[in-house]
Amino acid sequence: MTDAVPFFSAEGAAFGVDVGACVQRVAQSGWFVLGPSVRDFEAAFARYVGVPHAVGVANGTDALALALGALGVGPGARVLTAANAGYYASTAIAQRGATAHYVEVDAERLTLAPDALAAALRAGPAAAVIVTHLYGQMADMPAIAALCQAAGVPLIEDAAQAHGARCAGRAAGAWGALGCFSFYPTKNLGALGDGGAVVTADTALAERLRALRQYGWARKYEVTLAGGANSRLDEMQAAVLLAKLPRLDAANAARRAIAARYNAAFARLPLRCPPSLGEDYVAHLYVVRTPQRDALRAHLTAAGIGCDVHYPVPDHRQPVRRAAAEAALAGAEASLPVTEAACAEVLSLPCYPGLTDAQGERVAAAVQGFFAGAAAC
Ligand SMILES: *Cc1c(COP(=O)(O)O)cnc(C)c1O
Repeated sequence: MTDAVPFFSAEGAAFGVDVGACVQRVAQSGWFVLGPSVRDFEAAFARYVGVPHAVGVANGTDALALALGALGVGPGARVLTAANAGYYASTAIAQRGATAHYVEVDAERLTLAPDALAAALRAGPAAAVIVTHLYGQMADMPAIAALCQAAGVPLIEDAAQAHGARCAGRAAGAWGALGCFSFYPTKNLGALGDGGAVVTADTALAERLRALRQYGWARKYEVTLAGGANSRLDEMQAAVLLAKLPRLDAANAARRAIAARYNAAFARLPLRCPPSLGEDYVAHLYVVRTPQRDALRAHLTAAGIGCDVHYPVPDHRQPVRRAAAEAALAGAEASLPVTEAACAEVLSLPCYPGLTDAQGERVAAAVQGFFAGAAAC
């Protein structure tokens, strides 16, 4: 038997950086939360994304909730978003007491469909739109940004899977009023624990975010803003992220090369593969679609190949929302056929820096073997 292929590699995720040395430096500095490493990382990350401000926060979900808070989104507000992106945006919207209104996704990219968004913007007032660059594939940002601008609705990007992705010369996170990132260890840029950031070109929004992440303080012990939280980035995470950032583009290129190899290997199979191998896709997840998803998953698991489903349950079908959905019975929420079909068909294959050519071959051969076997039956 050949070795198993794991779904994630902590060693690959280090990008060859001596993360131990980063941790040790912070441990010896005596400054642990919101210090010089956070400041330096915020400056470097803002420059990387191409916006004036980055505000480090505790995680990606908080980044979304604080972004909504900075815009003044609160109870009763309607926020438009997709239902196929893991419930993170929904969690943040619920945290603010606002209501998620789900919009259908495009069948190719599985990101917000501009025509469906246009219809939802016409259907009623919206306090914000959250667009998720799912799997590292950027949404149709020229169209979506133009629709939001025309409607006068602020756009928030959930770029937690898309660090470094670019479209029309502009990075993920730099299109909306606010761009939200997670640095959870498995993300394209990952820390040694939780971390996140919000980027913005708007100085007033940046100031509000800095207050909201720390109790609503204008200055120490003076609370001027309601809706504050304790959501700070710590020095250890910032030091690791700062050291890894210069290697992010190379790591994304490695991910994309694996995706390209898979796409080529699967070209003749009855599988739907990621639609782009360009700079608008940073291969956070390599996701195929097939009606035989569960059988393929079982076949790969039996062959020792790690795989996962992102995500099996659309947001509007989550048990926690059932009561709300029934109450709201009418409306588009009942009908998201592309979203629901995708949730039943998606399967994520191993794709990360550090995956060897031999491992990639094993994955490709196992997928090909499944369909060769199916054809023989
Ligand atoms: C991971 C992720 C988040 C949440 O980030 P956390 O740091 O885990 O809170 C939000 N949105 C998307 C699309 C994600 O993949």
